[in-house]
Amino acid sequence: MKKIAIIGGGISGLYFANILNNQKDFEYQIFEKKDNYNFLEGYGIQLSVNSIKLLNSIGFKNLPASEVSFPSKVNFIQANNSKKICDIDLTQFNDPLNRYTTLKRSTLLKFLYKNVPENQIKFNSNISKIENANGFRITLNENKREEFDYLIIADGIFSKTKSLILNEITNPEYNLYVALRGKLTGHYGSDISIYMGSNSHYVTYPVNQNNEHNFVAIIKKKLPSDELKNYDLFKSKEFLASLVSGLQKTSQITLENLSELKSFPVYVSSDFPSLNKKNIFLSGDALFTFPPSFAQGASQSIETANDILKSILSGTNEFYQERIRRISSINNKSKLNHFSFQLSNPINIFIRNKILKYLSKNETFLENYLGKIYRA
Ligand SMILES: Cc1cc2nc3c(=O)[nH]c(=O)nc-3n(C[C@H](O)[C@H](O)[C@H](O)COP(=O)(O)OP(=O)(O)OC[C@H]3O[C@@H](n4cnc5c(N)ncnc54)[C@H](O)[C@@H]3O)c2cc1C
Repeated sequence: MKKIAIIGGGISGLYFANILNNQKDFEYQIFEKKDNYNFLEGYGIQLSVNSIKLLNSIGFKNLPASEVSFPSKVNFIQANNSKKICDIDLTQFNDPLNRYTTLKRSTLLKFLYKNVPENQIKFNSNISKIENANGFRITLNENKREEFDYLIIADGIFSKTKSLILNEITNPEYNLYVALRGKLTGHYGSDISIYMGSNSHYVTYPVNQNNEHNFVAIIKKKLPSDELKNYDLFKSKEFLASLVSGLQKTSQITLENLSELKSFPVYVSSDFPSLNKKNIFLSGDALFTFPPSFAQGASQSIETANDILKSILSGTNEFYQERIRRISSINNKSKLNHFSFQLSNPINIFIRNKILKYLSKNETFLENYLGKIYRA
């Protein structure tokens, strides 16, 4: 029996644990820093068909229909005048069993967590040392040591484990944007809507069938490094109000309808870590963190975990290497989306809108830009 340590019980780590449940030659232990999960959080997440396919293979399709939503369109709207420019039909990428899905992040985590036996996840884990000789020896809180054959590093964007293994601090970069999240109550339809503004854009979508909607805005904000580390700033009423007032108000979205507002700086990876050690795999944001304008971070975290298992089972690095190519391509598309969603110059906006109108109905473009990602 081979032993696998999974560091981080987020989307990627928990999904990996779920697919290991079907492998009788492996046992696993998850080490999670938090003391528990907060399943009450209402923030949303979009999952495209590529990850839905993988999730459905572990029973996701059995979630109550009331807890998920299946948007059929993405609307592109100009934020300053609420004018709809065009839409993309998402159902063209669906198949009879797998559909583009939006839901609460906590619903996804709860689903993934429920299949992990209680004794196979250790909360409050603080890993202080990892030695790599014959296998891995992990030193935990109170100097407890445990030995493993494989190490899966899935501890998110600020991965401390990656730094321990590489013997250097590998921090992502602040990309000069702040994310503002909230819960939107009211009737905002069953689709995803992207409101494109100047130096900001925001997205709304339903997270279930109970008229609850997620709101997420990405707002340009240059902040000095001392403010970036000031967690109180991001929680302060004044700062949240300044972010909200910086958005272009529209007739369709009344920002007064927002609750549970939360803001945080957006960090992204600039490069892939040069980790080439046998039996160690990086997954999810610990491997690479995208700008959030393609809504692929979680989907890719799930795909990567799936490829890691294929690599372990086949004894090669083949699947895992292919990841880098796919992630790089998605990263470029995320940056392009981000750029085009936030134009300021009226001439550029006019041209962008014309191009968007054309491309949103061009099958060849849609297949290349989205189909290749969603249908993988
Ligand atoms: C504003 C915004 C919106 C987004 N929207 C979407 C979307 O709609 N669709 C989508 O696909 N993606 C989206 N993403 C990206 C997505 O949230 C992430 O890519 C995804 O959560 C990454 O999963 P993960 O498992 O790698 O990391 P996480 O989900 O962050 O999990 C990491 C886990 O590791 C734990 N941990 C941290 N440090 C340690 C440690 N030292 N030891 C042990 N455990 C540790 C953490 O507590 C956490 O539980 C969005 C991101 C942002 C910023």
